Amino acid sequence: MSSGNAIKSEWLCKSNHTNKRRQIMSDTNAEQPIDVAVVDPKALETAACQPNGTVHARQQGINDVTALDIEQMQGIYGYSDEARQIIKNENLLPAGLLSRLHASYPQHSGLMAKETHMFAEKDQYTGLSGFRKVVEILQANNIDIGDIEERELFVEVYRFLATKHSLNSIDWTNFYEDSVFQLVMPQPDMINKQTVAEYMGASLAEKKKIVSDYQEKTSPHDGNQQLNKPWFENEQGEIEFLDGSQHKYPQCQLIFDKTTQNCFSFCTYCFRHAQVRGDEDMFIQKEIAQIHRYLKVHQEVTDLLITGGDGGYMPASRLEQYVTPLMEDRELLHIKTVRLATRSLTFQPEMILSAKYDKMLAVFDKLHENGIQLAWMAHFSTPRELLNPTTIAAIRRLQRHGVVIRSQSPMMNHISLFENKDGSIDIDRSAQNWIDLANIIGTMHISFHSMYCARPTGEHHYFTAPLSAVSKIFDKIYRALPSINRPSRHISMTTSAGKISIMGECDVRGERAFALMFTEGRNMAWLDKVFLAKYDETTNDVKLLKPLAGDTFFFEEELAQIEHDLAAALNNRLKA
Ligand code: SF4
Repeated sequence: MSSGNAIKSEWLCKSNHTNKRRQIMSDTNAEQPIDVAVVDPKALETAACQPNGTVHARQQGINDVTALDIEQMQGIYGYSDEARQIIKNENLLPAGLLSRLHASYPQHSGLMAKETHMFAEKDQYTGLSGFRKVVEILQANNIDIGDIEERELFVEVYRFLATKHSLNSIDWTNFYEDSVFQLVMPQPDMINKQTVAEYMGASLAEKKKIVSDYQEKTSPHDGNQQLNKPWFENEQGEIEFLDGSQHKYPQCQLIFDKTTQNCFSFCTYCFRHAQVRGDEDMFIQKEIAQIHRYLKVHQEVTDLLITGGDGGYMPASRLEQYVTPLMEDRELLHIKTVRLATRSLTFQPEMILSAKYDKMLAVFDKLHENGIQLAWMAHFSTPRELLNPTTIAAIRRLQRHGVVIRSQSPMMNHISLFENKDGSIDIDRSAQNWIDLANIIGTMHISFHSMYCARPTGEHHYFTAPLSAVSKIFDKIYRALPSINRPSRHISMTTSAGKISIMGECDVRGERAFALMFTEGRNMAWLDKVFLAKYDETTNDVKLLKPLAGDTFFFEEELAQIEHDLAAALNNRLKA
């Protein structure tokens, strides 16, 4: 036996099984064969092994998922020949990775699920008829989700859209506990009891009126979003407003392109439902060149954020029109990152595993080769969204083309936060969801950008949790994670003033307080200051917190002035 210099630590196993030997070629000396003992890891008795410096009993690794399993899962997921070929050619589903994920997180993993998928007929199920079709398929499989009329009221108010991937991701043997079930399927108690009571048993005409009256009452925007519409003076000295854009923080400009006004599935908590439902105050960017004109006079912008709806809806040819000048025009050298905000990795990852998607990958390659970061902003909030072969393969395919995937995720009750029986938040279970998620996305080379509490829109009461509970959960997550897997900032909540982070709790001369700090602000100078608010055990909205000392927070007077000036500019525009 060669002692081979590539083998550092060697172990002699004293178990009874016979070690088979084979020869492999050393990396360091291709000519010289090295003997390696091949053992069945399941037969190894760890306690019986001890180092003796002479024999290397090489284990075969974690092999919970075999090549045969991978073949079978591609059948269960109904992959086309084309998708299978792409996966094979690009090594998108390595057994070692799948085995590690499945072995580490069996409680979340759908990798080895053997059930035939129920939803195979269509890619998407849309509107009331789509919802009814889903219910029909479930019933044909002896699954009754109940409360159909109440769920239909929600569908009529907020619309319904679910992909076959999201529906097949649900663990239907335990759907009440399933996060994706809560994420895409309407639930009882989302809409208040009084409206539900009026709706149940009403005539068709009455139902229509109840729905439209209720839609009027929902408040998708916080009222100040129109103030974020940017404007600039063009070369002719005229004022131009951008109708499909927001520019609230200096470095980042949001674009709501005309092609991204849809989503792959609709989240039940959607805080942009005006945008995807087509209400009058939608932001829609039609002209691409106008964005480039704006950017040339706003050298402080470094990041373009393509969002919607879902930024993943933008066709490759249109994305190319947005990004080509960024690579070719010296006056746009200040743009360093294009962010694509999309939930397609959760809802329709199979689109990335197609030859049709190659055009998009070519645009990503071009960006990468020209030094512009393509940041893919995913919104994972539960481990189950990642632990399926399609999402894993899609992530790996994007990464091969220089795409940097980051995850920014809302903390939502019933989805990524969980309740005790008494309705209080289960701090430990909720924290564990995020700890597992953070470690999984770390394994997948995805960076954990942020966690946030959503603005109070839609049926906020159902999804919200007290800031005090959220802060405790965040503390546990932060302590449990290695620094490189932690979210890049403390948990934050968006207000008209900016994004306010909850840094934690403190005690000031015997009075309990929240320590707060801006991570983004209408005035970026505000980011330097920690400020204190009275501790509140029950509130779920950072806007409702009161200053620990005095009547107002330090930024409020200046904010009022900034908003006044923006509103005046907007009014002038509307009068023009
Ligand atoms: S992806 Fe965003 S915009 Fe679309 S439904 Fe979900 S929350 Fe709303």
